[in-house]
Amino acid sequence: MTLKVMNIDPSLCFVANTWVPALSAQTLSLGNPSDGSTICEIARGNADDIACAVGAAEAALVGEWGQMPAFERGRILTRIGTEVLKNINELTTLESMDVGKPTKQARADVIALARYMEFYGGAADKIHGETIPFQDGYTVYTLREPHGVTGHIVPWNYPMQIIGRSVGAALAMGNACVLKPAEEACLTALAFAEICKQAGLPDGALNVVPGLGAEAGAALTAHPSVHHVSFTGSVGVGKMIQSSSAQNAVPVTLELGGKSPQLVFDDADLDAALPFLVNAGIQNAGQTCSASSRILVQRGVYDQVVARMATAYAKLRVGPASDDLELGPLISQRQKDIVQGFIDQGADLRCAATGQIMGNAPGTGAYIAPTLFADVPPDHMLAQQEIFGPVQVVIPFEDEDDAIAIANGTDFGLVASVWTANGARQMRLAKRLRAGQVFLNNYGAAGGVELPFGGVGLSGHGREKGFEALYGFSTLKTVAALHG
Ligand code: NAD
Repeated sequence: MTLKVMNIDPSLCFVANTWVPALSAQTLSLGNPSDGSTICEIARGNADDIACAVGAAEAALVGEWGQMPAFERGRILTRIGTEVLKNINELTTLESMDVGKPTKQARADVIALARYMEFYGGAADKIHGETIPFQDGYTVYTLREPHGVTGHIVPWNYPMQIIGRSVGAALAMGNACVLKPAEEACLTALAFAEICKQAGLPDGALNVVPGLGAEAGAALTAHPSVHHVSFTGSVGVGKMIQSSSAQNAVPVTLELGGKSPQLVFDDADLDAALPFLVNAGIQNAGQTCSASSRILVQRGVYDQVVARMATAYAKLRVGPASDDLELGPLISQRQKDIVQGFIDQGADLRCAATGQIMGNAPGTGAYIAPTLFADVPPDHMLAQQEIFGPVQVVIPFEDEDDAIAIANGTDFGLVASVWTANGARQMRLAKRLRAGQVFLNNYGAAGGVELPFGGVGLSGHGREKGFEALYGFSTLKTVAALHG
């Protein structure tokens, strides 16, 4: 099966605004998680392709792109956002098919991509240096400058959102980007490149090389002319990338996994909390770095919360992405096996409820029923390790100290939320929780492109999203003039 993405051939790489075959002359098959079929072939880029893409990015920095004023970069990004929205139907279809995302969720990701382009388009000319009062006879000021060539390694779970937040911010600051999308899902990365070209992004400002992580990805992080690496993916690969980038002494932003808790106190508004407790665990079939996989509930409402979550779980339906149910398939059979392995490890636990796989879900798809475990000891592996599937554990707690000890008791620290009517408690816990984002009486703030995002501990370091990302994707030069 072949597929034309926005009239481009998806088996090609995008280098200097031109569609070219991989120098390896090899391709990889892209699978459809809903039925296991092959969607199309994609390029299997290698180190030579990465070298070409980095060369194109370097040329962009000394060419039109590098000389473009910030406001003009902003205009182009804003235009890209507009074009993304004009192509919302095709992008939704591609993402839904490629990732196995229910259509509504894929559509929300397109809108998020457009929002990132609008946000960073507007921000491009709003990051300034400072003048610094110094000794008599000096004038001192700072210049905020792009790193140069930035490498972007993106996973399969939210391709458009992650491209938006990292490539959008990097372009806004005037970097030239080389993007290595995931081998499991890269169609919207290719479509996005074509949209950027059509919106007027100059040659080489964005280059896209699909391929395997160990080949194209590793070559990108090791390339001596890449000056910053942004990685979103697993902890193991993140550590490798940090080591690789250390050889060139370049900064990395690591957005890794999580085991994010929601803390529900006796005084919480349970009607408000319930949809968030469940949705934050099963959205994108649980394949979300900031999925809430641990629900911590105070004793007074514990039984009630477990019962209400179980009722909600029993109504969850799993089926092909195009059926637009609550859950689609997982990304692959491999991911399904991993998640099933975790569920099997819960054989000794109380399974409070499962959702149901619909009868029309093909046996060749990677379907798994969402599963809710209750009364889970905080040190159980299901309460400690990232599952990256639709599995949540419910854990009882006694008081604030107990809740904090459990919430902070994993190696991760991405996001957390607190459900309580007590304002003083909200403030206390927001400070005590070890996480990059804390939500009070909500979860996720609807994605919030404006809100800095990133983790502590094994969840990674560096911040993307919001203005904070613009500092990460730039470097500061201090100029001291002695003029007497
Ligand atoms: P992964 O780490 O296997 O792959 C992510 C990307 O890294 C892919 O593009 C892959 O090709 C590339 N890659 C793999 N090996 C590489 C190497 N040696 N050198 C360079 N690049 C390499 O992760 P995954 O399985 O695609 O995604 C799932 C994981 O990602 C989960 O653990 C999840 O928590 C994490 N994740 C985190 C966030 C976040 O924002 N914190 C977002 C999405 C996913």
